[in-house]
Amino acid sequence: MSKLENLRCGLGETEAFFVSSPANIRYLSGFTGEGYLIITKSEAFLVTDFRYLLDAGRFSSDFVVRNMADGIKAIMPEYVKKLYIEGEHMTYSDFTFYQGQLETVALADDERRITKMRAVKTADEIRAIAAAADIACTVFEDVLDYIKPGISERDIALELEYRMKKNGAGGLSFDTIVASGENSAYPHAVVSDKKLQNGDFVTLDFGCVYEGYCSDMTRTVAVGQVSERQRGIYDLVLCAQLAALEAVKTGAICSQVDAVARDIISGAGYGKNFGHSLGHSVGLQIHESPSLSPKCHDVLQEGMVVTVEPGVYVEGFGGVRIEDLVVVTGGGPQILTKTKKDLLIL
Ligand code: ZN
Ligand code: ZN
Repeated sequence: MSKLENLRCGLGETEAFFVSSPANIRYLSGFTGEGYLIITKSEAFLVTDFRYLLDAGRFSSDFVVRNMADGIKAIMPEYVKKLYIEGEHMTYSDFTFYQGQLETVALADDERRITKMRAVKTADEIRAIAAAADIACTVFEDVLDYIKPGISERDIALELEYRMKKNGAGGLSFDTIVASGENSAYPHAVVSDKKLQNGDFVTLDFGCVYEGYCSDMTRTVAVGQVSERQRGIYDLVLCAQLAALEAVKTGAICSQVDAVARDIISGAGYGKNFGHSLGHSVGLQIHESPSLSPKCHDVLQEGMVVTVEPGVYVEGFGGVRIEDLVVVTGGGPQILTKTKKDLLIL
């Protein structure tokens, strides 16, 4: 079943979807410019402005291209009486504008129907995510030679970013994190000019985009030497990560997968030092649904792509996070970030 057919399941003859979030537009039509989609039971319009009009037609033959300048009132088929908007995405000012333009149409929340569809990836989507993960893994191994005392976090981040693009990435999934020493105690540390010192943990969290799809991985390495305590924390996080990976399979409940890692870390006395979710889904966007968190009780389905990334963060000391990107299957996780996870001391 095509994505459009899937979306149209259960849609009434007088109902339509109004799709305005860039990721959902790309997902359904392939179009990457600015505009919106109108999808009824029998028709589909890609509405865009002068800049993209010529180009828009080549993306998907399922859509008739219309000029935004004509106005939504003229473009919306008269038979549409109920329009599903993306409540999560649309601003209040856009909402009131469209409400004013479409006086005879009732606007309703789309209940994230497209977002839910996106949770299970097609084979083509998984291929793109795997290609992005391959680029990141290759680059990580290349950059290891470069990581040594005296090199700054910023230089390492730039090296990762440059090499990912050089290896075919279309962009970055998010701002690269390189956090060393005490900075590694901050899960979302911002890259600084701090130079690596002997005995530092260095957390590298990075990913790139390939054909619109993101990858995400984290490795923590050490420079110079490590203390017993550092080694203990690293082993704990790795043990929790490996156990949680085992739990990722079709039919598992997200919160229970999170609990596998959380119980191990809590059992070792570091429960308070693991303050974020175990993982999140990845696709056209870096953070998608469902997430592997204590609050998410969704069931994992074949073809979902999730991260498994436990961490332990100790203020004033440092932290460790290890993250893999995996495809959910009935037989367990298919790991896309294949780089080794033994503690590397550089
Ligand atoms: Zn990450
Ligand atoms: Zn992540």
